[in-house]
Amino acid sequence: MKTSRTVAALSLAVLLASGAAAAPAVAVGEGPNYGGNETINTSILHTYDKMVAELKKQDARQPAMELEVIGQSVKGRDLYLAKYISDPDNPTILYLTQQHGNEQLTTEGALEYIKHLGTGKTKGVLDGVNILVVPMLNPDGAMGDVDFPLDGYIADGGRTLTRANATGTDLNRDHVAKIQPETQALHENVMSVYGIDYMIDLHHQGTQSERDGELVSGSILFPTTPNADPAVVEGSKRLGAVVFDAVDSTGWGHLGRYVGGSAETISRNGIAVEYGISTLLFEMRGMSDNTNESAVLGQKSNGYLIKQTVTTLDATARAIADGSIDTADTSFWDTLAEQTTRDTE
Ligand SMILES: [Zn+2]
Repeated sequence: MKTSRTVAALSLAVLLASGAAAAPAVAVGEGPNYGGNETINTSILHTYDKMVAELKKQDARQPAMELEVIGQSVKGRDLYLAKYISDPDNPTILYLTQQHGNEQLTTEGALEYIKHLGTGKTKGVLDGVNILVVPMLNPDGAMGDVDFPLDGYIADGGRTLTRANATGTDLNRDHVAKIQPETQALHENVMSVYGIDYMIDLHHQGTQSERDGELVSGSILFPTTPNADPAVVEGSKRLGAVVFDAVDSTGWGHLGRYVGGSAETISRNGIAVEYGISTLLFEMRGMSDNTNESAVLGQKSNGYLIKQTVTTLDATARAIADGSIDTADTSFWDTLAEQTTRDTE
């Protein structure tokens, strides 16, 4: 247990320090999953309080960043928006993480990216794009502070992470009715306020999805409701093209096409229709906690999955800032295979 944690932490440190890591021997999708015999320890993940402390630290350090509280969770935790608005006339992208509390590596990646925005690594990017980040929309679920039983969750270390919010509601099915305070905060104080052009909604899926016979590091999908404006969907496909080119070409990234429904209660669909925003769903491999063994991922792939988030945010912000997203080639969508589930038994 100790060894695997050390290796994960070390590989993460190396990846983040080097920026561009040497190509690994295997794609991240081939990394080990839980398999019933690896400890799922959540100690590398930011707790809600540590995340807030990091956001406040970056806010104090970075003149271009503004940190705003957009509302409170059911249990009263402040919900945060990190804003970089250099010119209101610039195109704007929103990165949303952890609607599902048990899907946290995307938040880890978003925090890492926020740190990058305060360094020379992304010099000039903020001149051409406004960036909004809502990390951890569901902090109550992320901290297991919920009003339903926590029996059977696999993660060790005193912290359970749940998909639903404190009331047991799936926030990513609440984008039409908007009953939960977390969903209301997002719509009333982010979606309705800023002229957002693009959104990437970041999630985690199970560990056994594959494309072309190889386990995937993630999957992507554009709005599939028939009510979305075709121009908005085209923008989503271009956003997906930028992500696919950046991730699938790394050697460790391997993406499939997510198989998702057309309900507008889901942000990918509902936000595209309601606000005319080009949305992309990105589902990364493996959850931070679950009651289902095949859904959670051992820690050896954590570094790559965090890097996959950073790569995604960096590539899309750059493509919007320099305008190259406008000519992104969307033809790959015509041949990108839907992911299938590996038969493990
Ligand atoms: Zn999710």
